Amino acid sequence: MELNARHLSVSFSDADIVKDVSLKVKSKQFVGLIGPNGCGKSTLLKSIYKVIKPRGEVFLADTDLIKSSPKEVSKKLGVVGQFNELSFDFTVREMVMMGRTPHKGLLETDNDKDYSIVDEALHKVNLAAYASRSYNSLSGGEKQRVILARVLAQQPEFLILDEPTNHLDIKYQLQILNIVRKLNIGILAALHDLTLAAEYCDYLYMMKKGEVIASGIPEEILTKELIGRVFDVNCEIYRNPVTGGLGIAYLETY
Ligand code: ADP
Ligand code: MG
Repeated sequence: MELNARHLSVSFSDADIVKDVSLKVKSKQFVGLIGPNGCGKSTLLKSIYKVIKPRGEVFLADTDLIKSSPKEVSKKLGVVGQFNELSFDFTVREMVMMGRTPHKGLLETDNDKDYSIVDEALHKVNLAAYASRSYNSLSGGEKQRVILARVLAQQPEFLILDEPTNHLDIKYQLQILNIVRKLNIGILAALHDLTLAAEYCDYLYMMKKGEVIASGIPEEILTKELIGRVFDVNCEIYRNPVTGGLGIAYLETY
């Protein structure tokens, strides 16, 4: 299932926050969105997952996401956002069960299949023992894993992640990225750790001040020149001798 966003723009009052961005995520690709704080990554993602109405168009396969109903879209598209606070308290199991909602009719109750999907999702994120805990009592990292379990229970065909590894220990950062990669579906993820972006992404879009200024495979985008220009830091790129992956050594800031 391919995602195609064309000429997306978002403005708040007078400020242009996203400026004519076009991007594509091919079937089963893991695509990263990188760029400094405030460059418009979250706004761009929200305009794709229908929290903000942009100018331009967004298609997921043949589905016009801007024109489709939220329920229709939520059958196909899963989202892990940045902030996951709730005013009402739910148990962890109830939170994850909400992932099943898009697949159910108005008065349809939860059945054995839903329960087993929810149990499996909780196991995958190592939270089976937390099923009866109150969601609000969890740490930021545990909440993030509950939200991931909910999106797994939703069984989406495409996933949008907005800095999904914020607040997480490195073990859980890797766990979350490994779990989503194994889903083998298209993923568009804003990531702030450039080394993780290099390791997990097939393709990268680099943003600055609302615009995509470069796109390509990690080796083309994570260069000394582009990182210097966009993030305003001095770095050297090297081959990590242990992993064989791209390494970034940050030198003194400018
Ligand atoms: P990023 O995710 O790359 O850090 P954001 O998309 O969150 O960036 O924000 C981009 C810019 O848009 C920021 O300057 C932010 O203050 C501004 N912005 C975001 N949401 C709103 C809003 N609802 N109203 C006005 N400005 C906003
Ligand atoms: Mg953001």
